[in-house]
Amino acid sequence: MLREAAAGAVELVVGNARHIKNVPGRKTDVKDSEWIADLLRHGLIARSFVPPQPIRVLRDLVRYRRKLVESGSTERNRLLELLETCDIKLASFASNVFGVSGMAMLRALVTNAATPTEMAQLARGRLRDKIPALALALDGQLDDEHRFLLQMQLDRLDQVGRCHPIRCFVYGRVRFVGQQLHVPVRACTGSRGQCSGCGERGPTYDTARQARFFEFVPPWGFAVFLVYPMRRIACPTCRVRTEQVPWADGKNRCCNVYRVCLARWARRLPWSEVGQIFGTTWGVVHRAVRWVVDYGLAHRDVPGHHQAAGWPRPPYPRPAFTW
Ligand SMILES: [Zn+2]
Repeated sequence: MLREAAAGAVELVVGNARHIKNVPGRKTDVKDSEWIADLLRHGLIARSFVPPQPIRVLRDLVRYRRKLVESGSTERNRLLELLETCDIKLASFASNVFGVSGMAMLRALVTNAATPTEMAQLARGRLRDKIPALALALDGQLDDEHRFLLQMQLDRLDQVGRCHPIRCFVYGRVRFVGQQLHVPVRACTGSRGQCSGCGERGPTYDTARQARFFEFVPPWGFAVFLVYPMRRIACPTCRVRTEQVPWADGKNRCCNVYRVCLARWARRLPWSEVGQIFGTTWGVVHRAVRWVVDYGLAHRDVPGHHQAAGWPRPPYPRPAFTW
């Protein structure tokens, strides 16, 4: 029905159920629909806003993402509860149980291979000042079934965490600009940028006034851009350098995930056709394929590589790309 309406075959009116409520009494679907049809004929139904198709799809995705993020926090609370039941007071000492140190300790708790003192040594940064207290806090009553539950919760968090893959960056409010979708990205306050020269993290020097546009995979025919003002990093070795962002390579304006997407399609269709489908040029597809092939060649000696699977040529890579 919605599809027919979108195609213009039927005029769709969405009304508020509260405004068109029928008088109470014997009700059937037939009587209800007669009543609604009557109201409509007299123009008594206020039309609610029906967003166009791309926005409806986007809305579904955003809603689903929100649900995933929420289920992540529920899972975290459940995990903290479990720790409390087992008399492990990690949360009293670590400000963030799910930080780097906390996660290392949780994994160590699951494997049961380390003593509390050894586990406390996994602390990093300022948490190292509290090692003796942590050793006491980690000395709890963790049974096999608790470990099983903990493992499941950690796995679940890992799955849910994949819907938010850019670390140290947050998304802003998405805007429609003409036929383009702009997703503002900004660095988390106090986060250190990565030097594009040596890859080390360093303090930021300044931020560009003009944001840079990174093209993302365009779903449903409209272009999507991550909009990000680049920072410059004061690197001890390379001096002042533009930062390296995790979702794109060097000075490239194409997101890595988009290039992988183009290259995958380019295996099945002629490159010019792939360009047409994604609203881009043959050259962009060509560069994407080259980049992916180079990446595959550079990483073919990684453990578990293609030769183990008996493939004659290096395949396209299947790494965990960050956006
Ligand atoms: Zn550097």
